Amino acid sequence: MSLFDADRQRMDWLVVELNRHSTLYHQKNAPEITDYAYDKLYRELEDLEARRPDLRRPESPTQRVGGDVVAELPPFVHEVPMLSLSNAFRKEAPEWGGVWEELLEWEAGKPARPGGLRKLLGDDAPPVIRYVVEPKLDGLAMELIYEDGLFVRGGTRGDGVTGEEVSHNLRTIRNLPLKLENAPPGRMSVRGEVLYDLPGFEKMNTAREAAGEKRFENPRNAAAGTMRQLDPKIAGGRPLMFFAHSAGVVPPGVKSHWELLEHFAAWGFSVNPLNRRCDGIQEVIAAISELEQRRSSLDYEIDGAVVKVDSLEEQEILGFVTRSPRWAVAFKYPPPQVQTALRSVLFSVGRTGIVTPVAQLEPVRVGGVTVSNATLHNEYQMRHVHGLREGDRVIVQRAGDVIPEVAGVVEQPGREERPYITFPATCPVCGAALDREQSDDKKRSELYFYFCSNRLGCPAQLSGAILHFGSRLCMEIDGLGDKLVDQLVSQGLVRRPSDLYRLTQEQLANLERMGKQSAVNLLKAIDTSRGRTLDRVLMALGVRHVGESTARDLARHFGTMDVLMTADVVALSAVSGIGPAVSASVAEFFAHPENLAEIAHLREVGVGFVPLPQKATGGALTGKTLVLTGTLPTLSREAAKAKIEAAGGKVSGSVSKKTDFVVAGAEAGSKLDKAQELGVAIVDEGGLLALLGEA
Ligand SMILES: [Zn+2]
Repeated sequence: MSLFDADRQRMDWLVVELNRHSTLYHQKNAPEITDYAYDKLYRELEDLEARRPDLRRPESPTQRVGGDVVAELPPFVHEVPMLSLSNAFRKEAPEWGGVWEELLEWEAGKPARPGGLRKLLGDDAPPVIRYVVEPKLDGLAMELIYEDGLFVRGGTRGDGVTGEEVSHNLRTIRNLPLKLENAPPGRMSVRGEVLYDLPGFEKMNTAREAAGEKRFENPRNAAAGTMRQLDPKIAGGRPLMFFAHSAGVVPPGVKSHWELLEHFAAWGFSVNPLNRRCDGIQEVIAAISELEQRRSSLDYEIDGAVVKVDSLEEQEILGFVTRSPRWAVAFKYPPPQVQTALRSVLFSVGRTGIVTPVAQLEPVRVGGVTVSNATLHNEYQMRHVHGLREGDRVIVQRAGDVIPEVAGVVEQPGREERPYITFPATCPVCGAALDREQSDDKKRSELYFYFCSNRLGCPAQLSGAILHFGSRLCMEIDGLGDKLVDQLVSQGLVRRPSDLYRLTQEQLANLERMGKQSAVNLLKAIDTSRGRTLDRVLMALGVRHVGESTARDLARHFGTMDVLMTADVVALSAVSGIGPAVSASVAEFFAHPENLAEIAHLREVGVGFVPLPQKATGGALTGKTLVLTGTLPTLSREAAKAKIEAAGGKVSGSVSKKTDFVVAGAEAGSKLDKAQELGVAIVDEGGLLALLGEA
């Protein structure tokens, strides 16, 4: 026997043995060998594979962690659409109320109305309809494809027709079989749910906190985030699991859903141990109630139950209505709630300056996750709905995809003697006065939001303010994205928007993910933005209530920044289209010394506050949209733009079918290609002047 054959035999044996031990450990909870012995075999296989990569088997356990980083997540097209159950019965806490009647009606139908399983099945209805009740797993729906018993690829549900392929991450899930046992069909699509193991999730959060990283609040969102990572090592280090619950196409010969689940288990999938086969609706009711009782003690999250008609023949007869099966129905449990003590309320200031009250709690487990803070949403909820007082006990609730919230307050004797918790009058971060803004929602006129008025001087708002400053409708600084802004702010390079104009190439070159060419491009984009018109600078400064058209009205009316800065509320209100809220907020903006200082700084660094050309009506380009690209021989970008706008035309940043002309100069790039592709008219500078009647 040659040396190569010996390697092959040993490697094949190790793969089979390690996979068997892994199944015993992860799925059957019945290990035969110690972790140490397992690791030793695993390392032996790793060494052999490093020496003989040609003999590495696709189902090797090393493939769970060793995969390559992928460049992107390609689309994953479902051969049979992945439908969701639109039919959901919702239990309102704490009573089931009319839910059981609805379930009985689902089977029997209502008098004198079509519908009801029994009526639809007609003569095919058995005396007792058999169902399967399963926990509704609160995870991420997936489809896995197996060919000749080997896992080949898998993807997310997406919109039901196309999801994203995440095979590299699925491979890392310990209880997801890479190779099936017991004569599986040649080709198979298996559907199920990827979930976090909650004790593992808690451990991971503890470790993250110890390392100074942010906790994950919600296992389902964290699972979705993990599965979308490009580097499979991230998923490989996390406690995820997979439960199989259905098939894209049921393999031939299978007669019932329960039988399919039994096959899944035999082929090596984890099937949920709480699935129940039920004869008749009364057993279904018992199974749903039992599941709800066990919910809080499970190691993974469920948010309800699913009931399916067991017989595949009956499923076939019942069919679908719109995009939902008639033979299945979902039950939603109310979000889990617990009581805990309120320690204090923290007022957090978001990137837009909005102040949100957050309850700091005695840590408590809700639905398997430890919660130590919960949102109170806004002042109205805190003060008027809950009437929150110091020392209160609160009811905390955690629903699937929202952050934990305070759902109520526990009434206790003597409670009314304790003082109310008050909303601050000034920004807890910078001390500036708060602006009060009424909700847009007409039905909630009592609802107000509070914002820190110190838009440019408040540290909590800085990243948001800088990002907004450089955004497309404002100063339009290409390349100034959120990751870069966060770096500039955290390294202290940018403390206010005007600091952008003082950045040097050396400073930028030292940042992460910043090559020399991108630094040059960014500095060029920053330089170009010095020539933006007054209206765009006004928007960029983030004056509350001042959007695109208001900024234009103000710029046209007052002409220059100096005149606008000194306008009082009366003068502001005289501008057509400007209401009292806007004039008050503009006047207040210019009353703030920080803001005046920043306008002076912007002047110093050469930002021009270029006056808007007066509005032209009936100009040569009225109603036309033009796109500028490349360098024109004599006109600067700003001058060309001003001429077009003076003639009533609009200048857009991107080419679309609605573009009338693309004005192309030297070194025109992708915009020119796009124009050619879409058949948009292309002119040079001479052509533009001709359009303007200046040629
Ligand atoms: Zn502030």
